[in-house]
Amino acid sequence: MTPAQTITLNQIGHDPSRRGAPSTPNRGIEEIRGKVLFAAGEDAYAVAAHLRGSGTGIVLTGSEAAGQLRRLRATYPKMPLIADPKVYQDYTATLERPFAMPDADDQLSGLPAASLAEIAQAQLDQGATLAVLPMGYLAPGDAGPLRSAVAEANELSLRDVMLVVPADWSWLRGSHLKQFIAIVRQSTHPVAVALNNKGNALDDAACLHGYRSLFEQVPNAIAWRTDHNGLGAVAHGAAAAVIGFRASLRHISVEGDFSRSPENKHPQVFVPDLMMWGKSDFLRATYFTTVPAAGCTCGGCKGAAPDRFRDTPADILAGNLHNVDAFLADSRAMLTDPAGAREWWRQRILTAVQAMERFKLEAQRPRLKPRADIENWFNELV
Ligand SMILES: [Zn+2]
Repeated sequence: MTPAQTITLNQIGHDPSRRGAPSTPNRGIEEIRGKVLFAAGEDAYAVAAHLRGSGTGIVLTGSEAAGQLRRLRATYPKMPLIADPKVYQDYTATLERPFAMPDADDQLSGLPAASLAEIAQAQLDQGATLAVLPMGYLAPGDAGPLRSAVAEANELSLRDVMLVVPADWSWLRGSHLKQFIAIVRQSTHPVAVALNNKGNALDDAACLHGYRSLFEQVPNAIAWRTDHNGLGAVAHGAAAAVIGFRASLRHISVEGDFSRSPENKHPQVFVPDLMMWGKSDFLRATYFTTVPAAGCTCGGCKGAAPDRFRDTPADILAGNLHNVDAFLADSRAMLTDPAGAREWWRQRILTAVQAMERFKLEAQRPRLKPRADIENWFNELV
Protein backbone atom coordinates (compact mmCIF):
# COMPACT_ATOMS: atom_id res chain seq x y z
CA MET A 1 0.00 0.00 0.00
CA THR A 2 1.36 3.42 -0.90
CA PRO A 3 1.47 6.14 1.78
CA ALA A 4 -1.27 8.02 -0.10
CA GLN A 5 -3.57 4.98 0.01
CA THR A 6 -2.88 4.49 3.70
CA ILE A 7 -3.87 8.06 4.47
CA THR A 8 -7.06 7.71 2.47
CA LEU A 9 -8.09 4.54 4.29
CA ASN A 10 -7.23 6.02 7.67
CA GLN A 11 -9.30 9.09 6.95
CA ILE A 12 -12.35 6.99 6.08
CA GLY A 13 -12.29 5.74 9.64
CA HIS A 14 -15.18 4.15 11.44
CA ASP A 15 -18.56 5.77 11.53
CA PRO A 16 -21.49 3.43 12.20
CA SER A 17 -24.00 6.10 11.28
CA ARG A 18 -22.79 5.94 7.69
CA ARG A 19 -23.50 2.24 7.32
CA GLY A 20 -26.28 1.71 4.86
CA ALA A 21 -25.34 4.64 2.65
CA PRO A 22 -26.05 3.22 -0.81
CA SER A 23 -23.07 4.90 -2.46
CA THR A 24 -20.52 3.08 -0.24
CA PRO A 25 -21.18 -0.66 -0.41
CA ASN A 26 -18.97 -2.92 1.72
CA ARG A 27 -16.82 -0.22 3.20
CA GLY A 28 -15.59 -2.70 5.78
CA ILE A 29 -13.59 -4.74 3.30
CA GLU A 30 -12.00 -1.56 1.94
CA GLU A 31 -10.88 -0.63 5.46
CA ILE A 32 -8.79 -3.81 5.68
CA ARG A 33 -7.81 -4.30 2.04
CA GLY A 34 -4.16 -5.19 1.53
CA LYS A 35 -3.55 -5.25 5.29
CA VAL A 36 -2.24 -7.74 7.78
CA LEU A 37 -4.40 -7.78 10.92
CA PHE A 38 -3.44 -9.47 14.18
CA ALA A 39 -5.41 -12.09 16.08
CA ALA A 40 -5.38 -11.27 19.78
CA GLY A 41 -6.76 -12.70 22.99
CA GLU A 42 -6.30 -11.24 26.46
CA ASP A 43 -3.38 -9.12 25.16
CA ALA A 44 -5.74 -7.26 22.78
CA TYR A 45 -5.54 -3.92 24.63
CA ALA A 46 -1.73 -3.87 24.63
CA VAL A 47 -1.56 -4.91 20.96
CA ALA A 48 -4.13 -2.24 20.05
CA ALA A 49 -2.10 0.45 21.86
CA HIS A 50 0.95 -0.68 19.88
CA LEU A 51 -0.97 -0.55 16.58
CA ARG A 52 -2.26 2.99 17.14
CA GLY A 53 -1.66 4.99 13.97
CA SER A 54 -0.45 1.97 11.97
CA GLY A 55 -3.62 1.81 9.85
CA THR A 56 -4.17 -1.83 10.71
CA GLY A 57 -6.05 -3.57 13.50
CA ILE A 58 -7.13 -6.61 15.43
CA VAL A 59 -9.30 -9.70 15.21
CA LEU A 60 -10.55 -10.52 18.72
CA THR A 61 -11.05 -14.20 19.37
CA GLY A 62 -13.03 -16.14 21.92
CA SER A 63 -15.89 -15.69 24.33
CA GLU A 64 -14.75 -12.25 25.56
CA ALA A 65 -14.50 -10.87 22.03
CA ALA A 66 -17.77 -8.92 21.98
CA GLY A 67 -17.01 -7.02 25.19
CA GLN A 68 -13.42 -6.35 24.13
CA LEU A 69 -14.64 -5.04 20.79
CA ARG A 70 -17.00 -2.56 22.43
CA ARG A 71 -14.30 -1.22 24.76
CA LEU A 72 -11.63 -1.04 22.05
CA ARG A 73 -14.00 0.74 19.68
CA ALA A 74 -14.62 3.41 22.30
CA THR A 75 -10.86 4.05 22.51
CA TYR A 76 -9.94 3.56 18.84
CA PRO A 77 -12.72 4.92 16.63
CA LYS A 78 -10.82 4.31 13.38
CA MET A 79 -8.99 1.02 13.98
CA PRO A 80 -10.13 -2.03 11.97
CA LEU A 81 -11.70 -4.34 14.59
CA ILE A 82 -13.44 -7.69 14.04
CA ALA A 83 -14.69 -10.23 16.59
CA ASP A 84 -14.49 -13.97 15.87
CA PRO A 85 -16.62 -15.90 18.40
CA LYS A 86 -14.83 -19.15 17.36
CA VAL A 87 -18.09 -21.12 17.35
CA TYR A 88 -16.42 -23.69 15.06
CA GLN A 89 -14.41 -25.03 17.99
CA ASP A 90 -17.59 -26.60 19.35
CA TYR A 91 -20.01 -26.76 16.44
CA THR A 92 -19.84 -28.66 13.15
CA ALA A 93 -21.80 -27.24 10.22
CA THR A 94 -24.62 -29.36 8.76
CA LEU A 95 -26.66 -29.03 5.60
CA GLU A 96 -29.69 -27.80 7.58
CA ARG A 97 -27.78 -25.68 10.11
CA PRO A 98 -24.49 -24.42 8.70
CA PHE A 99 -24.33 -21.65 11.32
CA ALA A 100 -24.15 -22.02 15.10
CA MET A 101 -27.39 -20.34 16.09
CA PRO A 102 -28.87 -19.84 19.55
CA ASP A 103 -31.50 -22.50 20.17
CA ALA A 104 -35.02 -21.12 20.71
CA ASP A 105 -35.70 -23.89 23.25
CA ASP A 106 -32.84 -22.63 25.41
CA GLN A 107 -34.32 -19.19 25.75
CA LEU A 108 -35.99 -18.81 29.11
CA SER A 109 -37.60 -15.56 28.01
CA GLY A 110 -39.71 -17.27 25.38
CA LEU A 111 -38.62 -14.67 22.83
CA PRO A 112 -37.74 -15.93 19.34
CA ALA A 113 -34.03 -16.83 18.88
CA ALA A 114 -31.83 -14.25 17.17
CA SER A 115 -31.66 -14.52 13.40
CA LEU A 116 -28.43 -14.60 11.41
CA ALA A 117 -29.04 -10.99 10.39
CA GLU A 118 -29.53 -9.96 14.03
CA ILE A 119 -26.32 -11.72 15.08
CA ALA A 120 -24.41 -9.83 12.40
CA GLN A 121 -26.12 -6.52 13.15
CA ALA A 122 -25.24 -6.84 16.84
CA GLN A 123 -21.55 -7.03 15.92
CA LEU A 124 -21.84 -3.98 13.66
CA ASP A 125 -23.67 -2.10 16.44
CA GLN A 126 -20.74 -2.89 18.76
CA GLY A 127 -18.42 -1.29 16.22
CA ALA A 128 -17.13 -4.23 14.18
CA THR A 129 -15.53 -3.21 10.87
CA LEU A 130 -16.98 -6.42 9.41
CA ALA A 131 -19.44 -8.78 11.10
CA VAL A 132 -18.50 -12.47 11.22
CA LEU A 133 -21.24 -14.96 10.32
CA PRO A 134 -20.82 -17.84 12.80
CA MET A 135 -20.32 -20.82 10.49
CA GLY A 136 -19.59 -24.18 12.12
CA TYR A 137 -16.60 -26.34 11.30
CA LEU A 138 -16.65 -27.67 7.71
CA ALA A 139 -15.76 -31.33 8.11
CA PRO A 140 -14.01 -33.22 5.28
CA GLY A 141 -15.86 -34.62 2.31
CA ASP A 142 -19.41 -33.21 2.18
CA ALA A 143 -19.77 -29.82 0.49
CA GLY A 144 -23.48 -29.52 1.43
CA PRO A 145 -22.91 -27.43 4.60
CA LEU A 146 -20.68 -25.00 2.67
CA ARG A 147 -23.27 -24.61 -0.09
CA SER A 148 -26.01 -23.88 2.46
CA ALA A 149 -23.80 -21.40 4.35
CA VAL A 150 -23.06 -19.43 1.17
CA ALA A 151 -26.71 -19.52 0.08
CA GLU A 152 -28.00 -18.41 3.50
CA ALA A 153 -25.40 -15.64 3.76
CA ASN A 154 -26.25 -14.41 0.26
CA GLU A 155 -29.85 -13.94 1.39
CA LEU A 156 -28.76 -11.27 3.88
CA SER A 157 -29.24 -7.73 2.69
CA LEU A 158 -26.72 -6.44 5.26
CA ARG A 159 -23.43 -5.05 4.09
CA ASP A 160 -20.09 -5.29 5.92
CA VAL A 161 -20.65 -8.95 6.64
CA MET A 162 -18.09 -11.70 6.11
CA LEU A 163 -18.37 -15.46 5.95
CA VAL A 164 -15.62 -17.19 7.94
CA VAL A 165 -15.21 -20.73 6.60
CA PRO A 166 -13.38 -22.93 9.14
CA ALA A 167 -12.54 -25.75 6.75
CA ASP A 168 -10.73 -28.99 7.27
CA TRP A 169 -7.41 -28.67 5.46
CA SER A 170 -8.32 -31.53 3.09
CA TRP A 171 -10.66 -29.12 1.26
CA LEU A 172 -7.66 -27.42 -0.33
CA ARG A 173 -6.08 -30.62 -1.62
CA GLY A 174 -6.54 -32.54 -4.87
CA SER A 175 -10.03 -32.97 -6.27
CA HIS A 176 -11.78 -31.11 -3.40
CA LEU A 177 -10.09 -27.80 -4.21
CA LYS A 178 -12.00 -27.08 -7.42
CA GLN A 179 -15.34 -27.70 -5.72
CA PHE A 180 -14.42 -25.56 -2.70
CA ILE A 181 -13.32 -22.63 -4.88
CA ALA A 182 -16.42 -22.91 -7.11
CA ILE A 183 -18.72 -22.69 -4.07
CA VAL A 184 -17.02 -19.83 -2.22
CA ARG A 185 -16.79 -17.83 -5.43
CA GLN A 186 -20.58 -17.64 -5.34
CA SER A 187 -20.54 -15.73 -2.06
CA THR A 188 -21.63 -12.11 -2.37
CA HIS A 189 -19.78 -11.38 0.89
CA PRO A 190 -16.01 -11.58 1.54
CA VAL A 191 -15.01 -15.13 2.51
CA ALA A 192 -12.32 -15.74 5.13
CA VAL A 193 -10.73 -19.19 5.16
CA ALA A 194 -9.14 -20.83 8.21
CA LEU A 195 -7.71 -24.34 8.01
CA ASN A 196 -8.21 -27.07 10.57
CA ASN A 197 -5.17 -29.26 11.10
CA LYS A 198 -3.44 -30.88 14.06
CA GLY A 199 -0.16 -29.43 12.77
CA ASN A 200 0.67 -26.94 10.02
CA ALA A 201 -1.59 -27.60 7.05
CA LEU A 202 0.68 -25.73 4.66
CA ASP A 203 3.60 -28.07 5.39
CA ASP A 204 1.75 -30.24 2.88
CA ALA A 205 2.77 -29.23 -0.66
CA ALA A 206 -0.65 -29.95 -2.22
CA CYS A 207 -2.44 -27.93 0.48
CA LEU A 208 -0.09 -24.97 0.01
CA HIS A 209 -0.70 -25.08 -3.74
CA GLY A 210 -4.44 -25.07 -3.01
CA TYR A 211 -4.05 -22.13 -0.59
CA ARG A 212 -2.28 -20.11 -3.26
CA SER A 213 -4.91 -21.05 -5.90
CA LEU A 214 -7.74 -20.07 -3.56
CA PHE A 215 -6.49 -16.51 -3.16
CA GLU A 216 -5.63 -16.21 -6.83
CA GLN A 217 -9.12 -17.26 -7.88
CA VAL A 218 -11.54 -15.95 -5.23
CA PRO A 219 -12.06 -12.19 -5.11
CA ASN A 220 -12.18 -10.67 -1.60
CA ALA A 221 -10.94 -13.83 0.13
CA ILE A 222 -9.17 -13.38 3.46
CA ALA A 223 -6.52 -15.60 5.05
CA TRP A 224 -7.94 -16.18 8.56
CA ARG A 225 -5.92 -17.18 11.64
CA THR A 226 -2.69 -17.88 9.85
CA ASP A 227 1.03 -17.10 10.25
CA HIS A 228 3.71 -15.77 7.86
CA ASN A 229 1.75 -17.53 5.08
CA GLY A 230 -0.76 -14.68 5.37
CA LEU A 231 1.81 -12.47 3.62
CA GLY A 232 2.00 -15.04 0.81
CA ALA A 233 -1.78 -15.05 0.63
CA VAL A 234 -1.96 -11.24 0.29
CA ALA A 235 0.83 -11.37 -2.31
CA HIS A 236 -1.33 -13.78 -4.32
CA GLY A 237 -4.53 -11.76 -4.21
CA ALA A 238 -6.05 -12.18 -0.73
CA ALA A 239 -7.91 -9.04 0.37
CA ALA A 240 -6.25 -9.29 3.81
CA ALA A 241 -4.69 -11.72 6.27
CA VAL A 242 -5.10 -12.30 10.00
CA ILE A 243 -1.88 -13.40 11.68
CA GLY A 244 -1.69 -14.99 15.14
CA PHE A 245 1.31 -15.46 17.41
CA ARG A 246 0.49 -18.37 19.67
CA ALA A 247 -0.01 -21.67 17.86
CA SER A 248 -3.64 -21.60 19.03
CA LEU A 249 -4.22 -18.26 17.30
CA ARG A 250 -2.59 -19.06 13.98
CA HIS A 251 -4.43 -22.28 13.18
CA ILE A 252 -7.67 -23.89 14.12
CA SER A 253 -7.76 -27.35 15.61
CA VAL A 254 -11.20 -28.72 16.38
CA GLU A 255 -9.56 -31.59 18.23
CA GLY A 256 -8.13 -29.17 20.79
CA ASP A 257 -4.94 -27.20 21.29
CA PHE A 258 -1.98 -29.02 19.82
CA SER A 259 0.72 -27.07 21.63
CA ARG A 260 3.41 -29.52 22.67
CA SER A 261 4.30 -27.62 25.82
CA PRO A 262 1.32 -25.51 26.98
CA GLU A 263 2.92 -25.01 30.42
CA ASN A 264 5.92 -23.25 28.82
CA LYS A 265 4.97 -19.54 28.73
CA HIS A 266 7.95 -18.24 26.74
CA PRO A 267 6.68 -16.23 23.76
CA GLN A 268 6.63 -17.84 20.35
CA VAL A 269 8.75 -15.52 18.26
CA PHE A 270 9.11 -15.13 14.53
CA VAL A 271 12.71 -15.06 13.30
CA PRO A 272 12.40 -12.73 10.30
CA ASP A 273 15.52 -13.60 8.29
CA LEU A 274 15.03 -17.39 8.51
CA MET A 275 11.19 -17.17 8.41
CA MET A 276 10.79 -19.61 11.26
CA TRP A 277 9.01 -19.68 14.63
CA GLY A 278 9.92 -21.03 18.00
CA LYS A 279 9.48 -20.45 21.70
CA SER A 280 12.32 -18.13 22.65
CA ASP A 281 13.84 -20.58 25.18
CA PHE A 282 13.74 -23.39 22.62
CA LEU A 283 15.46 -21.20 20.03
CA ARG A 284 18.20 -20.24 22.53
CA ALA A 285 18.77 -23.79 23.73
CA THR A 286 18.62 -25.72 20.49
CA TYR A 287 18.98 -23.40 17.54
CA PHE A 288 21.20 -20.43 18.16
CA THR A 289 23.75 -22.25 20.30
CA THR A 290 27.00 -21.69 18.39
CA VAL A 291 25.95 -18.97 15.95
CA PRO A 292 23.71 -16.25 17.46
CA ALA A 293 20.40 -15.24 15.92
CA ALA A 294 20.61 -12.23 13.63
CA GLY A 295 19.74 -8.95 15.35
CA CYS A 296 16.22 -7.70 14.68
CA THR A 297 15.77 -4.21 13.30
CA CYS A 298 12.26 -3.68 14.72
CA GLY A 299 11.54 -0.79 17.06
CA GLY A 300 11.33 -2.98 20.16
CA CYS A 301 14.44 -5.10 19.48
CA LYS A 302 16.67 -2.23 18.26
CA GLY A 303 19.20 -4.71 16.91
CA ALA A 304 18.90 -7.31 19.71
CA ALA A 305 18.27 -10.96 18.86
CA PRO A 306 14.63 -12.16 18.90
CA ASP A 307 15.46 -15.26 20.99
CA ARG A 308 16.27 -13.16 24.09
CA PHE A 309 12.77 -13.06 25.62
CA ARG A 310 12.10 -14.75 28.97
CA ASP A 311 8.78 -15.97 30.37
CA THR A 312 7.98 -12.84 32.42
CA PRO A 313 4.74 -11.01 31.56
CA ALA A 314 6.75 -8.04 30.23
CA ASP A 315 8.92 -10.26 28.01
CA ILE A 316 5.95 -12.28 26.75
CA LEU A 317 4.29 -9.05 25.64
CA ALA A 318 7.56 -7.70 24.18
CA GLY A 319 8.01 -10.94 22.22
CA ASN A 320 4.51 -10.66 20.79
CA LEU A 321 5.03 -7.00 19.88
CA HIS A 322 8.27 -8.00 18.13
CA ASN A 323 6.10 -10.33 15.99
CA VAL A 324 3.67 -7.48 15.28
CA ASP A 325 6.53 -5.21 14.18
CA ALA A 326 8.15 -7.90 12.04
CA PHE A 327 4.92 -8.47 10.09
CA LEU A 328 4.12 -4.77 9.85
CA ALA A 329 7.57 -4.24 8.31
CA ASP A 330 6.99 -7.06 5.83
CA SER A 331 3.51 -5.90 4.87
CA ARG A 332 4.78 -2.35 4.33
CA ALA A 333 7.65 -3.64 2.19
CA MET A 334 5.31 -5.62 -0.07
CA LEU A 335 4.59 -3.80 -3.32
CA THR A 336 0.95 -2.97 -3.99
CA ASP A 337 0.63 -3.89 -7.66
CA PRO A 338 -0.21 -7.60 -8.12
CA ALA A 339 2.91 -8.53 -10.10
CA GLY A 340 5.15 -6.57 -7.72
CA ALA A 341 3.56 -8.20 -4.67
CA ARG A 342 4.10 -11.71 -6.05
CA GLU A 343 7.69 -10.94 -6.92
CA TRP A 344 8.27 -9.44 -3.45
CA TRP A 345 7.04 -12.68 -1.85
CA ARG A 346 9.13 -14.82 -4.22
CA GLN A 347 12.23 -12.84 -3.21
CA ARG A 348 11.26 -13.03 0.48
CA ILE A 349 11.11 -16.85 0.24
CA LEU A 350 14.31 -17.08 -1.80
CA THR A 351 16.16 -14.86 0.68
CA ALA A 352 14.95 -16.94 3.65
CA VAL A 353 16.09 -20.19 2.01
CA GLN A 354 19.49 -18.64 1.28
CA ALA A 355 19.75 -17.32 4.86
CA MET A 356 19.10 -20.83 6.18
CA GLU A 357 21.83 -22.21 3.86
CA ARG A 358 24.31 -19.70 5.26
CA PHE A 359 23.26 -20.30 8.87
CA LYS A 360 23.58 -24.05 8.50
CA LEU A 361 27.12 -23.70 7.11
CA GLU A 362 28.20 -21.25 9.80
CA ALA A 363 26.66 -23.35 12.57
CA GLN A 364 28.07 -26.53 10.99
CA ARG A 365 24.69 -28.21 11.20
CA PRO A 366 24.22 -29.75 7.74
CA ARG A 367 20.87 -31.33 8.59
CA LEU A 368 19.08 -28.01 9.25
CA LYS A 369 16.35 -27.18 6.73
CA PRO A 370 13.89 -24.34 6.19
CA ARG A 371 10.36 -24.92 7.49
CA ALA A 372 8.41 -27.31 5.26
CA ASP A 373 5.97 -24.57 4.19
CA ILE A 374 8.86 -22.30 3.16
CA GLU A 375 10.29 -25.17 1.09
CA ASN A 376 6.86 -25.67 -0.47
CA TRP A 377 6.67 -21.98 -1.44
CA PHE A 378 10.22 -22.24 -2.81
CA ASN A 379 9.22 -25.21 -4.97
CA GLU A 380 6.06 -23.37 -6.12
CA LEU A 381 7.75 -20.10 -7.03
CA VAL A 382 11.49 -20.31 -7.49
ZN1 LIG B 1 12.14 -7.44 16.75
